[in-house]
Amino acid sequence: MKSMEKVKIDSEKCKGCHLCVYFCPSKCLKISDKINKSGYKYAVFVNKDKCKSCGFCFLVCSDVAIEVFK
Ligand code: SF4
Ligand code: SF4
Repeated sequence: MKSMEKVKIDSEKCKGCHLCVYFCPSKCLKISDKINKSGYKYAVFVNKDKCKSCGFCFLVCSDVAIEVFK
C-alpha cells in the first residue's frame, strides 16, 4: 500500500509568505519556482523523509493552505 503524504499543501491557497519554510524545524518545505493562479510562488513539500508531523507549518499558515497528517 502506498504511504500517505504527511503534509499536503493547497498551492492555490498559498500566498508564498515563506513562514512555513522558515518555521519547519526539519527543512522539509521550500518555495517553488512555479506560480499559482493568483501569481504567487507557492510552498512545496520536498523533504518527506525528515518530516516529523509536528504541525508547525499548519499552525503558522494563516491562509490555511497546509494540512498535516500523523
Ligand atoms: S505559510 Fe501558508 S501561505 Fe505562507 S508560504 Fe507556507 S503554505 Fe504558503
Ligand atoms: S509537519 Fe513539521 S516537520 Fe513536517 S513539514 Fe510541517 S513543520 Fe516541517
